[in-house]
Amino acid sequence: MIYAIISCVDLAVPQEKKVHKSWLYSITGISGYQVVAQRIERHGRSREIRNAHVLARCGTLDAGELAFLLDKPPHVALAILGIILNATAALAACDTPPSRGRRRKTGMSDSTLVLTIASRRSRDEGLTCRGCAKTGVVPRKGETRRIRCHDFGRMRCYVEVEVRRMRCPKCGRLFKERLPFVTSPKARVTRAFEWLIVTERETASISDVARKLGVDWRTVKDAEKRVLEAEYRTVDLKGVARIGIDELYVFAGERKNRKYITVVRDLDTGRVLNVSRGKGEAALKEFAYRLRRQKAIKGIKCVCMDMSNAYFAWVAKNLDKDVLIVFDHFHVIMKMNEHVNNIRRLAMAQVNSDTRRRLAELAESDEDKEAVRRLMLNAKKKQDKAREYLKGNMRLLLMNAEDIAEHPKAQARLDRMLAKYADINAAYLLKEKLRSIYAHAKTKLEAAGLFRDWIAEARATKVDDLAAMAKTIEDHLTGILGFWEFRGASNASVEGFNNKIRWLIKQAYGYHDFRYFRLKVFDLPNLKPRSGDC
Ligand SMILES: [Zn+2]
Repeated sequence: MIYAIISCVDLAVPQEKKVHKSWLYSITGISGYQVVAQRIERHGRSREIRNAHVLARCGTLDAGELAFLLDKPPHVALAILGIILNATAALAACDTPPSRGRRRKTGMSDSTLVLTIASRRSRDEGLTCRGCAKTGVVPRKGETRRIRCHDFGRMRCYVEVEVRRMRCPKCGRLFKERLPFVTSPKARVTRAFEWLIVTERETASISDVARKLGVDWRTVKDAEKRVLEAEYRTVDLKGVARIGIDELYVFAGERKNRKYITVVRDLDTGRVLNVSRGKGEAALKEFAYRLRRQKAIKGIKCVCMDMSNAYFAWVAKNLDKDVLIVFDHFHVIMKMNEHVNNIRRLAMAQVNSDTRRRLAELAESDEDKEAVRRLMLNAKKKQDKAREYLKGNMRLLLMNAEDIAEHPKAQARLDRMLAKYADINAAYLLKEKLRSIYAHAKTKLEAAGLFRDWIAEARATKVDDLAAMAKTIEDHLTGILGFWEFRGASNASVEGFNNKIRWLIKQAYGYHDFRYFRLKVFDLPNLKPRSGDC
């Protein structure tokens, strides 16, 4: 029955309107080659396929082409095509369904379609020598290679091709034939299959893709790496006006400088321009070279960075003199949070040293031994409680006030802590005040006034860390106020982007492979948010 329909469609195709795509191309994306033989392998046994031309005809058409050829409305053509494709898949599945256990394990059928292909003569005539680039090379026997391509129906599909050795009669050079449908000599999957892997990777992990397509996880990773490498081999730096430089702590590698990466981004488009190991000036050496080579230095008007001074020298040395340095909102708040955390840590150290002193006092006292023991136990208990308190509320201290307000219990815990430790209270209030400057100041002038008030207030507290922060702000005020000049610069996305990188690091595939990690960072802006990821 199915054969009948296919044959019927087959007959309906007039010879002169033949669609040019070959059956091989429609399945594998390979052109310039022809199928010499095809067989189905199953449970270690193989069987030649004879009626392949029937399948061939089915593989060449899409609904539009079919509607045109049959002179039928598209929806009728679509229905017919559906039947054909089902029939094709049924044929492809090789009569019997796959065993269930196996299917569950691999998500695939256990039968395999192997197409033995050979280069067409027209392609052979165009072969040139790799040494002297002249035509007329003589192919010799070579080794057979099996290359994975798109599935056909429920079958895994491979092409088997002889990688011939070539000899050039003009210069005598011997070399291996290059296959045009793979991206690298090492690849064991076709170009088209590589793209399938990369598209699948957008929504699934490496191991999921490997299981679904029935390949090794290394194949998935290598394919992705090759495609990304080709995409990000050169990054166009022309027209870049505002860049953000940021360093990030990553847990990759043992060597000291491997712990940091420096990322440069285009703040207008969100593109990643550079990813390098290490931090500071040295990490941007190569980036400066690329800027010079692409003549993009003049275009850069604004650089966004943190206040650590690590990139000052680099900017002065490599960029235009009138480039504006901006310290963005995210980095200022981050620095403040570091100080708040430090004050909390100091409070904890104070508790520890108080307890130690008290214990020493008790040890030397002449009172009743049992009483001393009880007092010592009490002091230790008190220390444990304070420590738990100061440690447990760390996150609350760094959270935004409006976020905590939604949780009454957390708010109460925070309030108790702030009431107990005056320094922490002062730091917390000043942190929130700093945030409010960014939330409310409309103009640069207004912000300047508010920052000055803030500095005075911070100094009045007489807390070392807050005074240090006041000095940092005072020293960097021009750059901090630059934020209001360049409000449009997507500063908020710095934080979002850093979180994305952290998420990338957390993923299980191990970033001891820095090249791969680097490419993944380049590709991050294209990453679509997946459910359950963040
Ligand atoms: Zn030659």
